[in-house]
Amino acid sequence: MNRLSNADQQEIAKFDRVSRMWWDDAGPMRMLHVINPLRSAFILGQIEPPRPKILDVGCGGGILAEALARSGASVTAIDLSQPTLEAARRHAAAHGLEIDYRDMSVEQIAQEAQSGFDAVTCMEMLEHVPDPREVIAACAGLLKPGGRAFFSTIDRSLKAFLFAILAGEYVLRLLPRGTHQYRRLIRPQELRDWARSSGLEFAAIASLLYNPLTRRFRMAPDRADINYMACFVKKG
Ligand code: SAH
Repeated sequence: MNRLSNADQQEIAKFDRVSRMWWDDAGPMRMLHVINPLRSAFILGQIEPPRPKILDVGCGGGILAEALARSGASVTAIDLSQPTLEAARRHAAAHGLEIDYRDMSVEQIAQEAQSGFDAVTCMEMLEHVPDPREVIAACAGLLKPGGRAFFSTIDRSLKAFLFAILAGEYVLRLLPRGTHQYRRLIRPQELRDWARSSGLEFAAIASLLYNPLTRRFRMAPDRADINYMACFVKKG
């Protein structure tokens, strides 16, 4: 598997350009900082072993990977944006965290690694790749039987277009313009179908709903609305 065969270079370049700002919680990545406690709780609440082995796919600057490592997990984290990985490594080192950051695609690591992870997290990444089904299949292959996969993305619906793209990028400017392309967004049923065809059983879904008045997100369990995340269990 070629490292870049399921990667969109223009998408990676967008993240290269903001690589110095991953940890600026008032900068272009601020929404990831804001939602991080909610999604970390969703993930950690569903992982069983006390020191789980977790792979974070499309880890960016390590916002989630660091939260997982702080909770006691042993974390491997991969991305294809090299300046982003450098920022992630620097930040983890400065905070005394041991995270194994690697410049690899998930398809590549799936060929090399044993299927030994208790959990694989792939957050806010599927909507940036040409073939998200292939990423899901590779994530499934890396899990132990009974292990859990977590995916988050944005629904491809009119409501999501209005709120996540139009309002989020142009009106409220919560995200940099051009962050999301409508055609790449993923319907919850598509995610569930692709996961099922990779041997992953649906376990839970929740949405992160933004209130522009309080400027806060809240978690809405059992809902797949705009910005949603889902958990699946590997069969066997
Ligand atoms: N998962 C992180 C970052 C999300 S931003 C978080 O939620 O905090 C999306 C990340 O996916 C970027 O860092 C980008 O470089 C990475 N990415 C995009 N396409 C990728 C691919 N094909 N393989 C690995 N990483 C990819």
